[in-house]
Amino acid sequence: MAKTYLSKSTFIKGVQCEKALYLHKYNRELADDISPQQQAVFESGTSVGLLAQELFPQGVDASPKDYSQYFQSFKYTLELINKGVEVIYEAGFFYDNVMCFVDVLVKEKEGWHAYEVKSSTKITDTYIIDASLQYHVIKNSGLDLVNISIIHIDNSYVRSGAIDPKKLFQLVLVTQHAIDKQNYIKDKLTILHGVLSQDSIPNIDIGPHCASPYDCNFKGYCWQGLPSYSIFDLSRLNKKIKWNLYNRGVVDINQIPINVGLSDNQKIEVDAYVNKKEIIHKFKIREFVNSLSDNIFYLDFETYQSAIPPFSNVKPYQQIPFQYSAHYERNQKMMHVEFLAKDAVTDCREKFIQHLIDDMQEDGDILVYNIGFERSRLRELIAVFPQYKIPLQAIINRMKDLMIPFKEKWYYLPSMKGSYSIKSVLPALSSMSYDDLEINNGGLASVTFANMHIISNQDSLNVIRKNLLEYCKRDTLAMVEILNVLKMV
Ligand code: SF4
Repeated sequence: MAKTYLSKSTFIKGVQCEKALYLHKYNRELADDISPQQQAVFESGTSVGLLAQELFPQGVDASPKDYSQYFQSFKYTLELINKGVEVIYEAGFFYDNVMCFVDVLVKEKEGWHAYEVKSSTKITDTYIIDASLQYHVIKNSGLDLVNISIIHIDNSYVRSGAIDPKKLFQLVLVTQHAIDKQNYIKDKLTILHGVLSQDSIPNIDIGPHCASPYDCNFKGYCWQGLPSYSIFDLSRLNKKIKWNLYNRGVVDINQIPINVGLSDNQKIEVDAYVNKKEIIHKFKIREFVNSLSDNIFYLDFETYQSAIPPFSNVKPYQQIPFQYSAHYERNQKMMHVEFLAKDAVTDCREKFIQHLIDDMQEDGDILVYNIGFERSRLRELIAVFPQYKIPLQAIINRMKDLMIPFKEKWYYLPSMKGSYSIKSVLPALSSMSYDDLEINNGGLASVTFANMHIISNQDSLNVIRKNLLEYCKRDTLAMVEILNVLKMV
């Protein structure tokens, strides 16, 4: 297939940035690698699409068998329409060098209605543009399309028993929006086809468009000229200020003018970097360390989430705790306890709670890193399992946050590069890191666990479980190490 054809996704890419479209078509080798987390988002979109088909049962699937067979799919869609089929999944259309596949096409009383399924919980401007492009292609292919709707996830839905697609999804009619956007679509198509016929990469500088509406997958290529620690890494600096600085030629932290309106924490960060200073507020840190009991549990949770709630009493995208690790000291010996659920389709929350209550014993501070996360998960568990309210609330009441000294910049080293996440703090303070682990971040742990149920080979499952346990264990060991450093101040 000629490379100058546009699809819905390449059109949206081109709307975001013409250079991204060009690179995607002609220099795909320059794209960043797809992370397992991004891959999981794509796959989740597919399962949401399949579930939404249940809203329109007994349709015929017109999707191509593989990506080289687009044109057969357009032909097949036409055949199905001519044969009188009234529900078509993945109906394919082609007009003016643009192809599109509609998730569900339904013949209704008034005429054909296209339904586009999104796994997000709200409609965005990008989805309206996406629907408007489909409207343009389908209508101009000659089909009597009277309506187009977007189907998205209703995040107020709470699963009870089997999934009810009628309650999980919300259908929003966007026909008028699509009609209103037709001139915009035509103009954009002219521009984007023009971009694809150029013989060199469009000269477009980096800007806010690199992250909006999506994180561009060519950032590794376009942003490579920036210093490894630039104004874009300065923590919590307003985006507008960052881009104003960039447009004035300021990229290096040490070029930042004093009057730019930095917060106290940002000033500390800049000062530490420029003057190679280590910031250690001994009094504050000692106060923090002294506020802790002698008997400490170092606790960390891992969670996963899914657009389609996997079992009862779960909302779409709710964080479901599936694992914890805890270290604690007894008789000058470091002890370890842990829990890992069976898989992401078995409700193991009650077991998680029971093990946790048992493991946290009765007293001593429970140190977590970013208290808001663990506390929120426990409150959600209390809401679903009120019978455990008293012991879970007792755990919440014992929690203290090891992140505070770093968030407040009582302890800050230039090598933390503005971040107070445990992944930045640990290597800055000690020789420990996550580099030797197969699973080395929470996102990967979450995706790995969420997909465990589709793996049937027991040896592979054993390896995955071992990797997950090692990762979570490293998080709590990291906390032990970090507190030891703070104790030495
Ligand atoms: S990184 Fe930015 S400038 Fe480069 S292609 Fe992507 S959006 Fe365009």
